[in-house]
Amino acid sequence: MSKQLRELQARKAALVKDARALTDIAAAEQRDMNEEEVSAFEALKARIEAASAAIDREAALIAEEAHMAMRCERFSKDVKIGEGAFIDPYDEGGLSATLQTHQDHLRFRAMDFKELRQGLVSRMTIAQQHIMDFVQSIQTARPASSVGQKCSMDRPDHLAVDLHGNVLTCQNVSAKAIAPNGQPHHIGQVSNLQAVKMRSATHWSQRSDCPSCPMLQICKGSCMFLEGKLWDAGCDAAYSDNVPFLAAAIEFMTGCIPYYIDGDFREDRKDIFGQIHGAVANRPRRVIPILAYERATAA
Ligand code: SF4
Repeated sequence: MSKQLRELQARKAALVKDARALTDIAAAEQRDMNEEEVSAFEALKARIEAASAAIDREAALIAEEAHMAMRCERFSKDVKIGEGAFIDPYDEGGLSATLQTHQDHLRFRAMDFKELRQGLVSRMTIAQQHIMDFVQSIQTARPASSVGQKCSMDRPDHLAVDLHGNVLTCQNVSAKAIAPNGQPHHIGQVSNLQAVKMRSATHWSQRSDCPSCPMLQICKGSCMFLEGKLWDAGCDAAYSDNVPFLAAAIEFMTGCIPYYIDGDFREDRKDIFGQIHGAVANRPRRVIPILAYERATAA
């Protein structure tokens, strides 16, 4: 077990113990908790939830590392793996599964970059594609105006259809699905293409951050259908997913490893691996009722 996981579990156990002590005092005196005890309990509960979320994330990272090692061992070096990017958080479930804190983002970037340098992800075709895509964008001075949306569904000659003749906004959704902005993903019929109209998409060029984002040439604007907190989380994940590729491409071209990107874009994204400012503290988004769970399983 990793040292960090052990420390997180010990921290959570101490917090749970403190919270139980509070409820036990009231129970022993056969009374409800007073106001002071309730607020102390609520504060402990919030810290327990944060610790639980951190444990989940740490465990997920460890599992992913073990999974990668197992894949290398089992499939040897000849098998190409065709996928490897973060899934865009399209709903609350996806949101809870994506990176939550700035520290998570920094740790992921560092782990991914290390694996790229060690050749551990050399069979992931997406790694080679993204690194070379960025190298080519520099070689050819590719203008942002020529960068299409990552899924290519912004192209007028691309159409997603199902076997019933429904025209869909993209191949990853069904005709019954509704986009986060409330518009259906079903946008017409192949029998009447003139009436097909997309109302649920935002092209990267219309987003506030994408046009000035250094990741644009690799990321290509993430998912067109995300909005609000889903978009924010998806964009953050896309940045952290792609910045190790950019760093690897820079090292490939110059022999130097970048650690800071200057420019007119989000300040919190410039310090690539947190070597200058460290992790910016922020609260995790996920809420897990861990006390109720523990009491139930302990009973
Ligand atoms: S990381 Fe976010 S801001 Fe940058 S190009 Fe991708 S979606 Fe746009």
